[in-house]
Amino acid sequence: RKKIAVMTSGGDSPGMNAAVRAVVRTGIHYGCDVFAVYEGYEGLLKGGEYLRQMKWEDVRGWLSEGGTLIGTARCMEFRERWGRKQAAGNLISQGIDALIVCGGDGSLTGADLFRSEWPSLVEELVKDGKFTQEQVEPYQNLTIVGLVGSIDNDMAGTDSTIGAYSALERIIEMVDYIDETAKSHSRAFVVEVMGRHCGWLALMAGIATGADYIFIPERAVPHGKWQEELKEVCQRHRNKGRRNNTVIVAEGALDDQLNPVTADDVKNVLLDLGLDTKVTILGHVQRGGTAVAHDRWLATLQGVDSVKAVLEMTPQTPSPLIGILENKIIRMPLVESVKMTKSVATAIENKDFDKAISLRDTEFIE
Ligand code: ATP
Repeated sequence: RKKIAVMTSGGDSPGMNAAVRAVVRTGIHYGCDVFAVYEGYEGLLKGGEYLRQMKWEDVRGWLSEGGTLIGTARCMEFRERWGRKQAAGNLISQGIDALIVCGGDGSLTGADLFRSEWPSLVEELVKDGKFTQEQVEPYQNLTIVGLVGSIDNDMAGTDSTIGAYSALERIIEMVDYIDETAKSHSRAFVVEVMGRHCGWLALMAGIATGADYIFIPERAVPHGKWQEELKEVCQRHRNKGRRNNTVIVAEGALDDQLNPVTADDVKNVLLDLGLDTKVTILGHVQRGGTAVAHDRWLATLQGVDSVKAVLEMTPQTPSPLIGILENKIIRMPLVESVKMTKSVATAIENKDFDKAISLRDTEFIE
C-alpha cells in the first residue's frame, strides 16, 4: 500500500483544512494509507506521534474550520542537512515516500530540496547504521507535490492561492465597517493590509471598496512626489461630495527609492491636508476565520489532484505544484514557479517596477 503524508507549513491560511481533508479522503479512496504531519517540518523532524495515520472520519467537518488543525510552524532545523536527514529517517520508519506540502514558496523550496537530496540522505542513514540496505530498498525516491497555501496570492503561475480570497473577503468587510464610521465623522482612514512583496490583497481590496488610493510594492510611488498626488486625489474626491477617504496600504509598500511607505507616513500627509485621519492596521484578523467558498473548492479540487499526481509521478517527473489557471486545475513545475515568484522580489529590489508588474501577470495592476 502506498503511504502518503500531508502537511501544512509556513503561515496558516484559510482553506488549508479543506486541502488536508481532500488529500486524506482521496488517498483513502485510491487505497493508500494517509498520514498527517503535525506542526509542519518541526513534526517531520520529531517523527513518532507527530506522524499520524488519518481515517476518513478524522477530517469530518474540516471544510468549515479556519486556520490549520494539524498545526504549522517555522523550523530552522529543516534548513540544515542534518535536520532533513532526521526527517527522512522518520518518514522511512513509517514507510512513507510521498509528501504533499501545503505552504508558501519557502516551504515548497524546502520540500523540493528534500526530494533532490533524498537518495544521498538515505545512503547516509544506512552508513550511520539507522537502517539496513534491505530496509531502505523500497524507499529510493521521495515524491513531492506542492499546494500553495498563502493569503497573499504571491505565487507566480497560478491565478489564486488557497486562502487569498478569504483574507480579501475579511479585509473588505472590515473596510466597509470603517467606511461607515468614517462617513459619519467626515474622516479619512488609512488601512494597512498584509502583503510584504505582493500587493494583490491591497489592490483587490481597494478595487472592491472603491478606495481613494492604494499603495503596493510593485507599483512604487515616486519618491518625494506621491504626497502631493495623494492630497490632490483625496481633495478631488472630497470636492465631488465624498464625506470620507480610504487609503489602502500594503505592509510592503515602497516609494521608487525603496523607502517604505507606512500607514503613518500616509496619515501625516492627510493630516497636512486638514483631514481628520485615523490609521487601522488590520493584522491577524486577515488570516483568521473560516474559508470562503472559493478557497474551499480550490483546496478540495487541488487536494484531489495532488493525490492523483503522487500516484502518476515517476522519479523523473519534476516536482509539481498544483495551480489554477483560467478556472482549470493545472500542474506546473514547482521549481519554475518558485523561481518566478522570487524574480518579482528581485525586480522590486532592483527598482525595475515595470518588470515586477509584468511578472505579476495581472491586468488589474495597470
Ligand atoms: P509564508 O508565505 O507564510 O511565508 P512560507 O512557506 O514561504 O510561507 P517560510 O517561513 O519561508 O514560509 O518557510 C516555512 C518553513 O519551510 C521554514 O521554517 C523551513 O522549515 C522551511 N524552509 C523554507 N525555506 C527553506 C529552504 N530554502 N530550505 C529548506 N527548508 C526551507
